[in-house]
Amino acid sequence: MTRVAILGAGVTGLGAAWRLLEIHPGWEVTVFEQGDRPGGLALTWHEGEFAADLGPHRIYTELPEIEALLPGLISREQTLIVPRVSQLLLEGHFYTYPVKPAELLRHAGPVRLAGLAASAMAAKLRWPGGKPRNFGEAMIAAFGRATYDLLLEPYARKVWKTPPREVSSEIARVRVSAGGIGQMARRVFNRKEQHGSPSALNQFTYARGGVEELVKSLATRVRRAGGRIMTSTRASGLIVAGGRVTQVRLSHSSESSSTIDADIVISTIPLTELADWLQPFIPDSESAQAAHDLAHIGLILVGLEIRRRQFSPNSWIYFPEENYIFNRAYEPRNFDESMAPPGRTMPIFEVTSRLNDAPWSRADADIAENVKTGIVAAGLVNRDEIGQAFVRRIPHAYPLYTTRYRERLTTVCRYLRRFPNLVSTGRQGLFNHNNMDHSILMGLRAAECAAANLGNAAQPWYDNLGQFSHFRIVD
Ligand SMILES: Cc1cc2nc3c(=O)[nH]c(=O)nc-3n(C[C@H](O)[C@H](O)[C@H](O)COP(=O)(O)OP(=O)(O)OC[C@H]3O[C@@H](n4cnc5c(N)ncnc54)[C@H](O)[C@@H]3O)c2cc1C
Repeated sequence: MTRVAILGAGVTGLGAAWRLLEIHPGWEVTVFEQGDRPGGLALTWHEGEFAADLGPHRIYTELPEIEALLPGLISREQTLIVPRVSQLLLEGHFYTYPVKPAELLRHAGPVRLAGLAASAMAAKLRWPGGKPRNFGEAMIAAFGRATYDLLLEPYARKVWKTPPREVSSEIARVRVSAGGIGQMARRVFNRKEQHGSPSALNQFTYARGGVEELVKSLATRVRRAGGRIMTSTRASGLIVAGGRVTQVRLSHSSESSSTIDADIVISTIPLTELADWLQPFIPDSESAQAAHDLAHIGLILVGLEIRRRQFSPNSWIYFPEENYIFNRAYEPRNFDESMAPPGRTMPIFEVTSRLNDAPWSRADADIAENVKTGIVAAGLVNRDEIGQAFVRRIPHAYPLYTTRYRERLTTVCRYLRRFPNLVSTGRQGLFNHNNMDHSILMGLRAAECAAANLGNAAQPWYDNLGQFSHFRIVD
């Protein structure tokens, strides 16, 4: 019997297990998860009577194969269609987002509006037409220098904790508004575009009770097919013999440790950690350095109990200015009423951080206090309406696409290709800024590759990573 170890029970690992068992029902497939339940980033966080996703997870896909699977994972009764309402706080005013010119005219004045529009037009005329070399250039080409300086540069710098000129232009390709970046720019300045915008901008699909419902459904399929999901079990290393991975080291919540034999390993844990584990067996300083230089941006979520029914009517509020520690807020009860008890709500404030820096290094209570001060100063709430604060940290929330990330990733994948029965996949496993649908597909494809090539899947796998290069996140 072929023994497959899958590391990580996010949607990628679960998708991989499910597909493997469909192809080879007799294989022994075990998913090892360090957390106390499956889900990874697609978890729903519970604090007393409050619930929240770790960043609200819309269900959306442009991938026909995943579109066909979704109704089997989330039933029609579990599906909510949520109207999308967003605002942006800039210079003391809450603008509707995407910003409407009439509002800009009212609050910023005709001269400023004309300046923003002229700068956007000038960018269109003047841009040399070559590929932008970084995210900053991509934004200037699409929106013009004035909007870039006013809004986009500060917001990008705040989210990525990196100057936009050091961020890859790939981010502009991956994260698009429904209809692409050109359309997003036109929508800001063109009335017709605002009204005729695609539905993704006006509403979105959400799972009743939170994204974890989708995960539970995937996990049930894995178990029904005969797979095992071992939670509270952290993979802590691999053992390589004769050039192949033969065993996985495990540490359990009871502080005990063990090793298990594996013929095939599919890893969905951060690629950087995986590459580190392998260095003692095949030392390679270039790939070790490349893995070390692939950085993640961490996310600190601060949930605040507010003693009133609704904090704001918005799905999202954006805070581009530096004087607020948080970039964005969302309110789970606006996605699904049942996520908060009557008369109270828990908006969540997103704070991004590099992992070796502040605010990551600051105490939870300190960060929560900073958030409270910010929302009172913004006029969103009175101090006496704020109750308990809850903080949750996600270290590997976003892969940081710097202008050099692609070459580093290629170096690490070239190294991993040397371990024939090990395949790394998913958002963490391929350092891919993606969505759940992409991750599930990456899990399915990894399973198919492992099933077709048995213990020699690495070469065909890493040679075909281009199959994932068209992914994009439609916001
Ligand atoms: C703020 C935010 C908002 C998002 N919004 C959306 C959205 O609206 N719609 C959407 O479709 N997608 C959204 N996404 C993306 C989505 O969450 C991811 O694409 C998807 O969940 C990634 O799944 P994964 O399995 O590849 O990775 P993960 O979910 O990170 O899973 C990896 C798993 O491996 C486990 N693990 C790590 N190390 C070890 C170890 N050593 N041993 C054992 N287990 C280990 C982790 O605990 C985790 O469970 C969002 C992401 C973020 C951060």
